[in-house]
Amino acid sequence: MRNVSKNVFLNALTCPFLGWMLRTGEAPKPRLTLGDRFRFEQGREIGRRARMLYPDGLMVADVNLSSAARKTTDALHSPVPAIFEGAFMKDGFVTRADVLEQKAEGWHLIEVKSGTNNRAEYIDDMAHTYMVADSCGLKIGGVSLLLVSRDFRLGMADDALFARIDHTDEVLARVEELEIIRREIEEITRAEEKPQPQLIMECRHCDLFRSCVGKGIKNHIFDLPRLSQARFGELVAHGIVRIEDIPDGFDLTENQARVKDCVQCGESYVGEELRTELATIEWPAYYLDFETMMTAIPLYPDIAPYTQLPTQYSVHVCSDVGRVIEHREYLADPAGDCRRELAECLLRDLGEQGSIIAYSSFENGVINGLAQLFPDLSDALCALGERIVDLEAIIRRNYYHPEFHGSTSIKATLPALVSGMSYKGMEIGEGDSASAAFAYLAMGTYWKPDEVETVKQNLLKYCKQDTLAMVKLHEKLTDVVKP
Ligand code: SF4
Repeated sequence: MRNVSKNVFLNALTCPFLGWMLRTGEAPKPRLTLGDRFRFEQGREIGRRARMLYPDGLMVADVNLSSAARKTTDALHSPVPAIFEGAFMKDGFVTRADVLEQKAEGWHLIEVKSGTNNRAEYIDDMAHTYMVADSCGLKIGGVSLLLVSRDFRLGMADDALFARIDHTDEVLARVEELEIIRREIEEITRAEEKPQPQLIMECRHCDLFRSCVGKGIKNHIFDLPRLSQARFGELVAHGIVRIEDIPDGFDLTENQARVKDCVQCGESYVGEELRTELATIEWPAYYLDFETMMTAIPLYPDIAPYTQLPTQYSVHVCSDVGRVIEHREYLADPAGDCRRELAECLLRDLGEQGSIIAYSSFENGVINGLAQLFPDLSDALCALGERIVDLEAIIRRNYYHPEFHGSTSIKATLPALVSGMSYKGMEIGEGDSASAAFAYLAMGTYWKPDEVETVKQNLLKYCKQDTLAMVKLHEKLTDVVKP
């Protein structure tokens, strides 16, 4: 019988079924993208740097929990200043503590996180570790969170990388609550029989959704935009999980009612203003897309952790709807911060007149960021911002296709409107992975010349696909409003 780990326990708090699936090992492993892998590695690196703060600390490296727990017990009776990955097991509950710091008043429990924000869910994380370690008899003097400091800059010492926040009081309060439900969680997760999954709001973002309560449901009520907890509860209370089953007269917002009507009649919605809004586009038009990179530990000087650095762009220039006359692109040299060069190339590649078509407000945000960074280019960059037309906003206001499934992201609209064009099978197929691939180039993870060249080509291909997708979407929308 497997132990109830922290992951099992914390997930079971929200969904007992998920807790049971994780404890029994029946939960399918999610497919990891390059972006997921990079985030995981960044977390591991932050953990490694945190351990550097205690040069004489002792690492409990054992994967086997029983031997790790034995080594931890031995270490707790030694004069080591800190223990890393200390393991605790009691009555079927297990946990590992990132850092245990030896203090006069007892052991200080430290949870290391690779983010910069002090998030509420970290309290549960720390409370679980406290609860299990305490039940093993550990004398705990305090609990703190170690986050990445926004003030860190490349070249600073490791201790400047972290911001430490004492959470002892909040954790103690939460431990009292967890102690009450601890046995209940244990019973549920250790039951022989699988509990029944229950549809809850959290299912919307659960990796298991499509193989669990969302299985076989094409138009789930989660496709309704901005579905509130109250409206969700009402629908579920009436046994309604498919949009097709929502009765006429059910209280929905205008956007939700639009999605419902399109799904129920199987036809697209075309707003009256679609033609007028598309007609505001001035030619030649420049379809623009940026890719950016964001790392926990900055790779270049004078950059804060998690700064979003633009690293590449693609521009399709069209003389009219669907008529591509040129493709322009830029990919930074990963060896250094190329934002100045990127800004100058962008000004050259976007010309001085004609609409700049972007998908979302992201491109405008990047251009504004560059304008703030380079005051001498500010006027010219701000002028670019004034030419931006947000194609996604036009779609959101004026068009809906039953196959959008509640989303107007390009990954949802493209397959619905443009046949034969998708991101499936691309080596780099999502923004997170593009960010990770560039970071790996900058970190020298990819170093063989042919490997570097392949990654660069994949990055260019992905960004180009985004702007070509916009050209095609624009063409389709124009067809829709043709008299
Ligand atoms: S989809 Fe919902 S019920 Fe199923 S495991 Fe996820 S949270 Fe639990």
